[in-house]
Amino acid sequence: CGIVGVLGNHQVAPLLVEALKRLEYRGYDSAGIATLNEGRLDRRRAVGKLVNLSDLLVHEPLAGRAGIGHTRWATHGAATVANAHPHRAGGVAVVHNGIIENFRDLRAELIGLGYGFESETDTETVALLMQHQLSLGLAPAEATAAVLGRLHGAFALCFLFDGQDDLLICARKGSPLAIGHGDGEMFVGSDAIALAPMTDRITYLEEGDWAVITRAGAEIFDMANRRANRAMTRIQVDA
Ligand code: GLU
Repeated sequence: CGIVGVLGNHQVAPLLVEALKRLEYRGYDSAGIATLNEGRLDRRRAVGKLVNLSDLLVHEPLAGRAGIGHTRWATHGAATVANAHPHRAGGVAVVHNGIIENFRDLRAELIGLGYGFESETDTETVALLMQHQLSLGLAPAEATAAVLGRLHGAFALCFLFDGQDDLLICARKGSPLAIGHGDGEMFVGSDAIALAPMTDRITYLEEGDWAVITRAGAEIFDMANRRANRAMTRIQVDA
């Protein structure tokens, strides 16, 4: 339901939770974040209100300057910790808004390839598809183009990759997504309001766009995987 991503210069867990709080008004049943904790993908997830996630983070902190976060409104699979995002497969974590309509076919195909599932969500198929493309030797951007070509439905996605402290990849189709520009920091949000405390410089992705984001900026591609220029605007929101 709500997505955030941060490539920061300081600890990102508090920023991710703060941004998710700003998306609470949309409603949700569970929440989670993933960071590169000492360089390795790690995550914390909790059912219920964001305070449950914050409490968990007090007892089991997540370090790291790169991370993604999500508030979930369950569509496939009950509101449980196992179904909460970020979903993870091998070296990739993903947060997702919307529905992958062909997830049953994708799931059957992945099971045929020997992959196992930990959740009942449509989202986990995306994590496993990405992991599969990476295992074939594709770089994250090429793997993203391959994965997006397989997905039907409406979605916004944001990926974080193990050991890649300066990389987020995000995509939108039928579900909004905004990129925020900081000073040597970059942000992703399903809603620019989520990013308001961090930046007022926003680039909205257009339908079918996806983006490779580093702290130096964002490279945006259209649905045909061609480089695309999207304007940066200044938004006015009360931080
Ligand atoms: N379809 C996904 C799920 O049920 C994402 C739902 C959402 O947009 O929060 O996990």
